[in-house]
Amino acid sequence: MEWKAKILSIKDFEDEGKIIDRVIELECPNDFSFKPGQYVMIAHNKVKNKHDPKQLRWGSMSIASSNHQKGKIELVIAAGEPTGITYFVANKCKKNDYLLLRGAFGVFEIKEPYDELVLVGSGTGLAPLMAMIRSKLDSGEKKPMTLFFGFKEKNLFLFQEELEQLKQKHPNFQFFYITSRELSLEGKQGHVQELLKDHSFNKKKNIQFFLCGPPKAVPDISKTLQGMGFSEKQIHFEQW
Ligand SMILES: Cc1cc2nc3c(=O)[nH]c(=O)nc-3n(C[C@H](O)[C@H](O)[C@H](O)COP(=O)(O)OP(=O)(O)OC[C@H]3O[C@@H](n4cnc5c(N)ncnc54)[C@H](O)[C@@H]3O)c2cc1C
Repeated sequence: MEWKAKILSIKDFEDEGKIIDRVIELECPNDFSFKPGQYVMIAHNKVKNKHDPKQLRWGSMSIASSNHQKGKIELVIAAGEPTGITYFVANKCKKNDYLLLRGAFGVFEIKEPYDELVLVGSGTGLAPLMAMIRSKLDSGEKKPMTLFFGFKEKNLFLFQEELEQLKQKHPNFQFFYITSRELSLEGKQGHVQELLKDHSFNKKKNIQFFLCGPPKAVPDISKTLQGMGFSEKQIHFEQW
């Protein structure tokens, strides 16, 4: 499916006056459907493919919203290089502007049976995990779900308020976070793997892990989990 999507809302996460991440809500047709974990492709008429300027520059963006929500989706955009689509959306687009969207694509989704879900995100890699958490809780999931989230510093704490509210509302959902450039409020500093190493998992349970983040982080997280005794079959990932 391809459509012109109006930007309905914008929330920016900045560092020293520079937009690092931008969370946007976009209109989508009511019959648009996706599986939590999937992504859309986004483009804008003003951003061409630098290798073939007749073509638009399309970028893949994971959907962060619940698949129970109709009429709009949410994306988390990390501003990249100035010639790219992410930089343009983060720095030039305004509310009520339009983007071109295609989707949904991808095979990163929860298919396997599980007793417990563990979601491990680094930076904007939280986006597809957020779709999984929101969609599962919206459909009345009662099995335990734990999110481990690592990011650089506290002004880049995506969805902080919502995550805290979800934890209050749903006793089966908990989350832990760590920051790499500064001490977190809980006195922790480092990458998300540190949180995993400190956590006591019930290995008798069928735990399925879903990891997402930049290409450097995901293999390291997977290696940490395998070093803790979890099998490759339990570990599912998307890396950017
Ligand atoms: C399945 C999947 C899901 C993803 N989900 C997200 C997400 O939710 N949020 C997120 O922020 N990122 C996500 N990404 C990563 C994102 O798609 C890439 O970072 C993408 O490259 C961003 O596009 P960009 O044009 O901004 O590239 P940039 O970050 O600007 O550049 C990346 C590369 O593309 C080249 N490039 C830049 N501009 C152009 C151009 N105009 N024409 C041709 N090449 C160019 C650059 O030379 C560089 O090599 C996802 C990736 C995948 C595969």
